[in-house]
Amino acid sequence: MLQEATQDAETHRTGTSERGSFCFAHCSCGWRGPARRSRERARTDADLHARTT
Ligand SMILES: [Zn+2]
Repeated sequence: MLQEATQDAETHRTGTSERGSFCFAHCSCGWRGPARRSRERARTDADLHARTT
């Protein structure tokens, strides 16, 4: 079985979710960032993930 690597930037749709007083980033690829105290921080995590993956 061959698995083609056809991942492009479109596959990484990131967003942020809040849980209690914490905020974390998530991605359409299944990735989830660590819980952060601020949404801005979580957005930075998401941004970094989308750029480096
Ligand atoms: Zn991703």
